[in-house]
Amino acid sequence: MNSEISLIQQIDALLPQTQCGLCGHRDGCLPYAKSIHEGEAANKCVPGGQPVADALAILLNRAPLKAEESVWPIQSDGRPQRVKAVIREDECIGCTKCISACPVDAIIGSGKLMHSVLTDLCTGCELCIPPCPVDCIDLVEDTQPMLNETLRIAEQDDLRRRYYAHIQREEKRQLNRKGPVVRAEIDTELFAQFSSQTDSVPAIEVVEKQNVATINIDAKTTIELAKIRTQIKKLEKQLSVREDAKKRELLDSLSVQLTQLQGA
Ligand code: SF4
Ligand code: SF4
Ligand code: SF4
Repeated sequence: MNSEISLIQQIDALLPQTQCGLCGHRDGCLPYAKSIHEGEAANKCVPGGQPVADALAILLNRAPLKAEESVWPIQSDGRPQRVKAVIREDECIGCTKCISACPVDAIIGSGKLMHSVLTDLCTGCELCIPPCPVDCIDLVEDTQPMLNETLRIAEQDDLRRRYYAHIQREEKRQLNRKGPVVRAEIDTELFAQFSSQTDSVPAIEVVEKQNVATINIDAKTTIELAKIRTQIKKLEKQLSVREDAKKRELLDSLSVQLTQLQGA
């Protein structure tokens, strides 16, 4: 078992730690590393490009494969162009959705206030873009000098630590979550298992499954409540302009539903 974990760690050490999921593994680099160990092709890391596919082929003593293509042009080091996210701050409505989506905690801001990307930490993984309701996040080319091997490994180690810290915080936050879940739930157990084998990443404790089930119900209820409140507000506005029996009836029934859900 320990040698298996050690090989998965060696594979993971070659992966960029962008945690973007472009390899088809939603939860990031470690699940892909595990799957490569179990036999999956080792050429699917898009940000890693050909250099990562080749390094994995050497490590695993497999035939080299052509790396999965990126939508970005290839840099002189053989990897796809590095990019960074930038928030058009005057358009940001401060909804905080991008914060939970960012796997390496590179976005700062709080409710109803403008948010900003900490450019040095952003990996350009693009995960903050889909949840943004006003589409105010752009990707721009990273103009920083290319990293040498030592700096790249240091950056990957830092990103890995940040991701484990993010997972641990999100795991704990599930217990007190007030808003809906933005990013799909991370399968924490694999990360917890690996964090227990090394001091180089924050230890992850898994929240008890019973609590998670309750929390998922809470998240659903929160979304339902938000929808009903929005409908009620709309109807109240319309009825303040002109009375309408059907709308009044719908408003009454939504108000009853709201009270029932709040009491749930
Ligand atoms: S950086 Fe590569 S291995 Fe990691 S999640 Fe993205 S595509 Fe997968
Ligand atoms: S700010 Fe956006 S693009 Fe940058 S690392 Fe976070 S989620 Fe990825
Ligand atoms: S998701 Fe978009 S609107 Fe919401 S806080 Fe982030 S940048 Fe601002």
